[in-house]
This record gives sequence, C-alpha cells and structure tokens, in this order.
Amino acid sequence: MSETTIENKPYKSPIQPTKLSLNDTLQFRCHKDIACFNECCKKIDILLTPYDILRLKNRLGLTSEVFLAQYTVPYEMDAQSMPGVKIRTADDNLICPFLREAGCSVYEDRPSACRYYPLGLLSMRQQDSTTDENAYFLVKEDHCLGHNEPRTLPIQDYRQEQGVDIYDEINHEWRQIILKKRSAGPTIGKPTLRSYQFFFLGSYNLDGLRSFILSQGFLEVYELDDKTLKQLNQDDVTLLRFGFRLLRQVLFGEMTIPLKENAMQTRVQRRRETNQVDPDNPNSDYQGPLVV
Ligand code: SF4
Ligand code: SF4
Repeated sequence: MSETTIENKPYKSPIQPTKLSLNDTLQFRCHKDIACFNECCKKIDILLTPYDILRLKNRLGLTSEVFLAQYTVPYEMDAQSMPGVKIRTADDNLICPFLREAGCSVYEDRPSACRYYPLGLLSMRQQDSTTDENAYFLVKEDHCLGHNEPRTLPIQDYRQEQGVDIYDEINHEWRQIILKKRSAGPTIGKPTLRSYQFFFLGSYNLDGLRSFILSQGFLEVYELDDKTLKQLNQDDVTLLRFGFRLLRQVLFGEMTIPLKENAMQTRVQRRRETNQVDPDNPNSDYQGPLVV
C-alpha cells in the first residue's frame, strides 16, 4: 500500500504547506480590470475579529447588536466551544452580503481576512512559552488570477499596502486572551456558560459592553474616574481595549481595573432595599462577570 503524503492526497488543498515570514516574498496583484474580479467574494467563509466588527458596524451606522443579528452567524472556534462569529451569507449561496457589481461596498473597512487574502495569518504558541508567534501561509485558489500578475513584493510590504497594522495590533490583544484561555484548558475545566457569554460580550458586542460598563451595577463594583468613563462612552477603540482588560480580569484574575471598597456588599444592599434580591442567594440576579 502506498503511503499518503501531502502531494498524493486525493484532494488538493489551496493552502500551500510552506510557512512564510515577513521577509518572504509574494507574487500577487489584485485590481479591478482582472478577469476574476469579485470571484473571491462569491464563495466566502470569513471569520470576524472584534476590530473587524467595530469597523463594519460603524461603517454601516449600525449598533453592534443589529450588525451581529443582520450580518453574522455564530460558530464554535475550537473544541472548547469558544464562541466566534462569521459573515452571514444567504441560505442558497455563499456570496458576501457586502459585494456589489462595482466591488466591495465596505472596502475601506473590509475585514482583516479580506485584507490579508491570499495570505493567511497563523498565530501559534509553543508549549511552555508565554508569547505567540505569527507565521503566514499562501492560499492559491484556481479562480484567483492575481498569482499570475507580474508583481513580487515582501509580505511586510503587502501587509502595509493592505492596511492591516491597526487590525493586527488590536486583534493581537484579543488573540492573546484566546491563546491563554486555550492553554489553561483542562487544568481549569470546561469554561462556564457565563464565561462564554461574557467573552462574546467583550469580544463582539461593543454597544452591549458599553451599556453594561455604564450601568449602575457595574459602577457599584468597579472604580472608574470621570475621564475614563467619558472616553469609554465616546471612543469605540478605547472601549474595545478596556473590554479586553475586563476579560483578562474576569477570566484570569489579572487585576488592572480597580474595584471599589465593599463593592459587592453595596450592590447587594441596594438590591435588598429595592426588594430585588433573593435573601438566600443574593447574587442570583447578577448578569455581569464574576468579580475576582
Ligand atoms: S467584505 Fe468586501 S472584500 Fe470581503 S468578501 Fe465581502 S465584498 Fe469581498
Ligand atoms: S485576483 Fe484574486 S483576490 Fe483579486 S479579485 Fe481576483 S480572485 Fe479576488
């Protein structure tokens, strides 16, 4: 019986097996006059990151709740069922909902996966390491004629051309949280439903996070000065990054957001005064993260 290798497998994957670094070169050019224009947007499977959602929902003038409901579907990111979101397509085709005849209607705010294409980004963490490493891989699909164009450039120049830096900078903070949660894995058991709900809120539902952070219940527990509150209210990027800190505090106990003295007692007392608390289980109504 002959051995199955990557070369003689019965299917042909468009993902090239070579790991690439920033200094490696890429032969590729995409432009409006190419015969395959828009083909890549007609069969999509695009995973969205928190910063992708921030850019898209602001571009479309939608709240994150409306954007998530209208343009995304949930999926499980890994065997631990970490919640992720993808762009939603129609039931009978895989065409991106943002595609128009003239091209991408959200081009300036397109997701990082679209910016990177035909490259993929791979974030890895070696066992016993506390930091992750980025590597790139090439996706060569038959319909994409950009690979035949006579232009070669280093991957770092392609990244710059596609404006991925700000996406990578912000998404890197988020990927650290995912990697840390995965590496904690079985040692802390399967994460609770509440921790998944909170991960979803802190990652994808920015406007929901804002309402939560500005709520009386939250402000009774966490010590935030007026300047910080104003920034969180007005600036989405500040809010997203604060959400990452909050996720780290709640999920891993990394205390960077100060707690108020007697925070939980104050909150329970208020609930008691308004008869909204079960005396046998005073935290049963609390929907927010566990304070660690
Ligand atoms: S967001 Fe734009 S670039 Fe990305 S798949 Fe959709 S139409 Fe294409
Ligand atoms: S060259 Fe590739 S990326 Fe550009 S439009 Fe054609 S299929 Fe899409």
